[in-house]
Amino acid sequence: YESLSVAELAKKLHREPSELIKKLFMLGVMATINQELDKDAIELICADYGVEVEEEIRVDITDLETHFEQEVSEEELRERPPVVTIMGHVDHGKTSLLDSIRHTKVTDGEAGGITQHIGAYQVEVNDKKITFLDTPGHAAFTTMRARGAKVTDLAIIVVAADDGVMPQTVEAINHAKAAEVPIIVAINKMDKMSANPDRVMQELTEHGLVPEDWGGDTIFVPISALKGEGIDQLLEMILLVSEVGELKASPARSAIGTVIEAQLDKGRGSVATLLIQDGTLRVGDPIVVGHAYGRVRAMVNDIGRRVKDAGPSTPVEITGLNDVPQAGDRFVVFEDEKTARSVGESRAMTAIQAQRSEKQRVTLDNLFEQM
Ligand code: GDP
Ligand code: MG
Repeated sequence: YESLSVAELAKKLHREPSELIKKLFMLGVMATINQELDKDAIELICADYGVEVEEEIRVDITDLETHFEQEVSEEELRERPPVVTIMGHVDHGKTSLLDSIRHTKVTDGEAGGITQHIGAYQVEVNDKKITFLDTPGHAAFTTMRARGAKVTDLAIIVVAADDGVMPQTVEAINHAKAAEVPIIVAINKMDKMSANPDRVMQELTEHGLVPEDWGGDTIFVPISALKGEGIDQLLEMILLVSEVGELKASPARSAIGTVIEAQLDKGRGSVATLLIQDGTLRVGDPIVVGHAYGRVRAMVNDIGRRVKDAGPSTPVEITGLNDVPQAGDRFVVFEDEKTARSVGESRAMTAIQAQRSEKQRVTLDNLFEQM
């Protein structure tokens, strides 16, 4: 590091900026929180804390976000399956649609009787895979987006043909628009006598979703989740829209992605469902997940099978973490366990410190009073 601000260095050292300012003052340097410190000043402070500059900074700059931006070459890129979220008003048929898709597409042999729930699943259509997030769509969008995670490539908005556009329908549209993901409308409950798809289309037009037949560019698919009708057309449309998006990833690189859900299991410890967004995740990989870390001990796919590796857009459930991460947390695979551990520990520490400093914030004013 050639230069760091007082605030940045304080963060790296897990200290309050005010403490650093005080220390600098003792060392004869007058500094403010935003002041840039040169290499000498950084070394001076680190020496005072008994921290070796190289070591401490090397570890702390290994930020998860920077791993997300890892450069990959064009040749490494391969097509990846789209990740789809289903949203809509309560009782309009989101769960029924997810079930219907799973049942029509997961073959009996694969399902092996009981399909365990891991919060996401994949289906295969015309030799192409589609990943569905099985968590409540709104939650997926709100909690994950609040944490800056973008996991969805495409949103399906379910509207019951007998009920029309409702408050959560509008909310769902707004979420999808804010996330800049393409929307496909599934007009559900078409089997009902009272179904009125024209009304749904009319109402959605007012929210900027205009059907192709009416000169717009939104795809509407009439379905009955209950009867399993229109599901194949819906899946084909998903593939069509995904192809336009040219979704790519590099299976060759080490894995990165986002936590879909996680919990503590009595027998297995911390269990996390991860969506691999790029790269390939392997059993044994040293990994940092949010503030947790460890080695991938076991990996299970969406149909409950043990797998040794998993590529882009695949949901997997892993064990082996020292702590339970949160939905929306990022994960990154590291070269070696030592680095994963130190980054994990440092992140956990930063989180604790952040909580603490929220509680006992020292302002510059009262700092100088103290002095
Ligand atoms: P969610 O709240 O959006 O997840 O809605 P659900 O999938 O739980 O469905 C709410 C109710 O609508 C349930 O009683 C379903 O059986 C019913 N339902 C869902 N899809 C259809 C459909 O295509 N046709 C009919 N007639 N009922 C449906
Ligand atoms: Mg539901």
